[in-house]
Amino acid sequence: MVRGDSVPARTADGKTVGDLTMTAKHPDGEPWQWPEATWRGIVGRGRAGRSLAPTHWPEGARCAVALSFDADHETIPLRDNDESPMRISQGQYGARRGVPRIRALLQKAGVPATFFYPAVSALLHPDEVRGVAGDGHEIGIHSWIHEVNTSLSYEVERDLATRAAEVLAGLAGRDPVGMRTASWDFSVNTLRVIREMKLLYDSSLMADDEPYELMDAGEATGIVELPPEWIRDDAVYFNMLRFSALRPYTPPSAVEEIFQAEFEGAWEEGGLFLLTMHPHVIGHRSRIALLARLVAHMQARGQCWFATHAQVAAWCRDNASAA
Ligand SMILES: [Zn+2]
Repeated sequence: MVRGDSVPARTADGKTVGDLTMTAKHPDGEPWQWPEATWRGIVGRGRAGRSLAPTHWPEGARCAVALSFDADHETIPLRDNDESPMRISQGQYGARRGVPRIRALLQKAGVPATFFYPAVSALLHPDEVRGVAGDGHEIGIHSWIHEVNTSLSYEVERDLATRAAEVLAGLAGRDPVGMRTASWDFSVNTLRVIREMKLLYDSSLMADDEPYELMDAGEATGIVELPPEWIRDDAVYFNMLRFSALRPYTPPSAVEEIFQAEFEGAWEEGGLFLLTMHPHVIGHRSRIALLARLVAHMQARGQCWFATHAQVAAWCRDNASAA
């Protein structure tokens, strides 16, 4: 029973259009014909197990803030086999303008963050990776070339993830301990790969607001899931693709309102506020300002523990309530 043979949907001109997938027929027939063991097995992959919401946060904090930047840069058009210098230049903007602005903002605010790099992006910008790591930020795994995991075999996915980790370790000077799958495209094989790589955490799945332990077919894995969400992702609101209907309809002020409301909810509940951004998206003049205002708002609110994803994962693993 092999699943995960979804293929990315493509527009008429052959471009991948993200997470729209067409799924091959299941050997057990149509979904309404599946035996119970089939549908239970499907939902049992990468399932949320016990909550890892901690009994308390460090430094007397009420709330944890984990900012992440997926430094995709040129790898989105490369992944799409799109050699357009225009689209590649949009990615290069992330390195030329986005990351320097983000690093300056984080330095000024005195907060750490996590930068997830596709290996090809890191190899194109090695000094950037060294600089970001040198600033004290975490470097995490984010695919080889932003490939679509659900279109790959287990062997290929594992090979790419392993080689990506080696590239990042060589540039950052330390082994990465966490993975964010590209496009959060966590395949039916990804958890097996993560377990074999002995990573501390993943940040791709969305079953909770708070960290939880990943289950593999009913077995507790010890892997921490730090849940992202499309709601807390800049790309959802700001992406633009000329030859599709994809347009940035949401003004930065509205995105700021959504992010701030998500933060306020986390603060009220004493939970985790995890925000995903992209240097080539958030790095523009009209948008970096909203991030600066959001960070200032959180710092003014107080009792926030700003931490890397690795720090949050380790804390939650070690301080989860016994329940
Ligand atoms: Zn990405």
